[in-house]
Amino acid sequence: MVNGRKQASMPDPQRQAVRPICFTDLDGCLLNKSDYDYRPALPALRRWCRMGGVMVLCSSKTWAEMQPMRGELGLERFPMTCENGGVVVPGNSEGQAAAAGIVLGKSRRQILSVLKDLHQSFLFRSFAQMSVAELVAQTSLSADSASLALQRQCSEPLLWQDEPRRLAEFTQQLKAADLTLTRGGRFLHVAGHTTKGLAAQHLLKHDAQMQPPRLTVAIGDAPIDQSMLDLVDIPIAIPDPDGVFHVKISQPPGIRASAPGPVGWAAALQRIMDRLA
Ligand SMILES: [Mg+2]
Repeated sequence: MVNGRKQASMPDPQRQAVRPICFTDLDGCLLNKSDYDYRPALPALRRWCRMGGVMVLCSSKTWAEMQPMRGELGLERFPMTCENGGVVVPGNSEGQAAAAGIVLGKSRRQILSVLKDLHQSFLFRSFAQMSVAELVAQTSLSADSASLALQRQCSEPLLWQDEPRRLAEFTQQLKAADLTLTRGGRFLHVAGHTTKGLAAQHLLKHDAQMQPPRLTVAIGDAPIDQSMLDLVDIPIAIPDPDGVFHVKISQPPGIRASAPGPVGWAAALQRIMDRLA
């Protein structure tokens, strides 16, 4: 948004100095889905930062998983959002210790308190009950990665072990406690009413690095990214490895990337920078 108003096209950089801000998903976008490689994206990422752009990582991963990644990419000074927008973490000034995140939704403690009651009536197993070894057995994660994935702040994945028909009743009970249930690949996820779009809105309103005039970009590949794609001036859709798009954007100003993962991510961002240069 430029001066708080959504525009249909990019502002003219000759007339107005704008700060470009990009919110990006990780898996399948900045990172390859298969091997988590981000190297093809680095030249575009470096150019974006040289231009004074802000790059905000927005993932369903936990703070513990994302913090090393943000450092590896040299993006510590920028904020990030974790657990699907449930946590926003400010950027770190040079030499400053990592700042704690702000939980926007329900805290994990609140979620676990509700789940403790529901254990009386339903059969399920959540991350709070699982050891690292058990999570490794349930997923393809390494022991180190599983340990980081277990360090949650505002969402709780669970394995449903009850009859499938009882899931509707379970969802109703969660709704009564002001919680939501979404289906991931392997697990069901319990959380508060948070989205990546709401977290991006929070940052645009409150983070000092994001004040207008600005040009906002978001990059996503899955329905869970749609809320942040809908929020920005230029949404970028990344296809899956089969070339299929799972998010909806309007073109222009939106861009459908020509390739999956970091290759398409970089090409789409370079197009925007070519116009801003
Ligand atoms: Mg993704």
